[in-house]
Amino acid sequence: MDKVILITGSNKGIGYEIARQCGKLGFQVIVSGRDESRLRKAVEMLAKDNVLADSLLMDVSSNESIENAVKLFATRNIELDVLVNNAAIGIHEDNQLAYNNTEILERSLQTNSFGPLRVTKAFIPYIRRPGRIVMISSSGGVLNGEVGGWSPAYCSSKTLLNAITKHLGHELHPHNISVNAVCPGWVKTDMGGSGATRSVEKGAETPVWLASEAPQELTGQFLRDKKAILW
Ligand code: NAP
Repeated sequence: MDKVILITGSNKGIGYEIARQCGKLGFQVIVSGRDESRLRKAVEMLAKDNVLADSLLMDVSSNESIENAVKLFATRNIELDVLVNNAAIGIHEDNQLAYNNTEILERSLQTNSFGPLRVTKAFIPYIRRPGRIVMISSSGGVLNGEVGGWSPAYCSSKTLLNAITKHLGHELHPHNISVNAVCPGWVKTDMGGSGATRSVEKGAETPVWLASEAPQELTGQFLRDKKAILW
């Protein structure tokens, strides 16, 4: 039986590339996103690359949308082997916490931190054991040195995502589900921009490895380039 993987925010960027690479590895792929037509185009593009994917409409910032997605998923009578929480936003005006409206931080947390937690909680009953959850995080969320001085709301949202990952790793370990965070590096996507140093293929490499062949014992760790890094 093919392994099944669901990737949030996978109509483009790193999420799409994770879907493509996992499809090539023989996974049954479910791409997910908040816009029906963008999702349809992603499925068409994957098909041109000989990857047959299903789609699931889900806005990770909306409880109602997540509930609807889970209801629809439940009618398909399949289980997930892997859930990848990839969807995230960066907000252009996110340049300081001190004087910006807190709405920028609230929106960042809603999508980048609460989104992955809510999606995870909603799908846990549908994850096969052993199962895997991969959180696409960022070195911007790291707190063991100086902060980078860029996009503080985005970085704070990834710090919270890292904390959530570590707690979920601990809580889900007895249930045979691994939970990891990954920093993909600075990747050429709409979010990363054209000046980024990494290709989308390289950005997807460690998430795909975690989704497929990485040892489950790595649960609860934060990885970059297949190696554990400090939170
Ligand atoms: P991207 O090209 O902007 O893609 C983001 C994806 O998330 C899009 O498919 C987008 O859908 C989706 N999305 C955003 N909000 C959503 C929502 N509320 N519900 C569902 N889907 C939503 O970004 P990326 O560079 O591929 O980033 C992927 C992940 O890597 C993110 O978690 C990001 O924080 C992380 N990351 C990226 C970099 C980098 O350099 N690129 C570095 C570190 C970490 P729409 O098309 O509808 O907007």
